[in-house]
Amino acid sequence: MSELHKFIFEGLPVRGVLVRLTGAWTEMLQRRASNSTTGAYPEPVQQMLGEMTAAAALMQSNIKFNGALVLQIFGDGPVKVAVAEVQSDLSLRATATLVGEVAPDATLSQLVNVHNQGRCAITLDPQNRMPGQQPYQGVVPLFGDQGEKIEKISEVLEHYMLQSEQLDTRLVLAADDKVAAGLLIQRLPMAGTGNLAGSMVSKENEDEIGLNEHYNRIAILAGSLKREELLTLDVDTILRRLFWEEQITRYPAATGDTAPRFVCSCSRERVSKMILGLGVQEAEEIIAERGDIEVGCEFCGQQYRFDAIDAATIFKAAEHQPPSSPSVQ
Ligand SMILES: [Zn+2]
Repeated sequence: MSELHKFIFEGLPVRGVLVRLTGAWTEMLQRRASNSTTGAYPEPVQQMLGEMTAAAALMQSNIKFNGALVLQIFGDGPVKVAVAEVQSDLSLRATATLVGEVAPDATLSQLVNVHNQGRCAITLDPQNRMPGQQPYQGVVPLFGDQGEKIEKISEVLEHYMLQSEQLDTRLVLAADDKVAAGLLIQRLPMAGTGNLAGSMVSKENEDEIGLNEHYNRIAILAGSLKREELLTLDVDTILRRLFWEEQITRYPAATGDTAPRFVCSCSRERVSKMILGLGVQEAEEIIAERGDIEVGCEFCGQQYRFDAIDAATIFKAAEHQPPSSPSVQ
């Protein structure tokens, strides 16, 4: 089961979140792998997208916001775009679009920052947007302070949190073909400052950045967590191993119905309506040419296939509906 755990360090201005995506992550991988047009993600892309998805869940759970948090990387290499989207209720989906060959040992910059044009964007899209209201978006380049190419998603986002939100953050991320997981440790902002929606930052908060010894100690402990541990150990063991000398207070975990879970709004019925929209003639032409109609969901990779009989059934069903009836939901 996928799960998300929040905790605070008692008496200290430091909080943490730990997420482990299992079923939610493998569901996405399976959809992609069974898509005959795209095939499965190459391993380096799988790792990048899994880390992005875990990070997006951590960031969404860490803010008070009703809407979608969308983490995107626009690449200039074989990965054109990678997207992870997490709603306030922790339902999530992720996908990546590839335009070139991915080497089996490709680094992050070899995937998305070959010509120094890659960038990362974080968007907060409110659920009930007012007319004319724009979603909040922050963009960061994929370079460090010395102009070096960043090779870890966690470092990209740590930079983002510090530069855009004035929040000291330590992130540890890992993903393989079974688990996408992450640990976030953050120094609590001074009252009323430094939230992801971009409020004013007080002088005191700026002065404290990087100076808090408690945060620094805990961040170093968090940074000692190894990829293998994050992927294989349960949450209790991870927290005990890292922070056994600290006093941690844990909040009720997001598990079961409230756990992070895969949700995509695509369905066979929706695709049927799309085919209906093509018209019977065009649908028959595609089937004559290719044998069937294949439609892949651009948000999750799920592929829907309709052969001649499926298509005929769709158009026949439509005939039996009164012409003025509104389209089926
Ligand atoms: Zn979908």
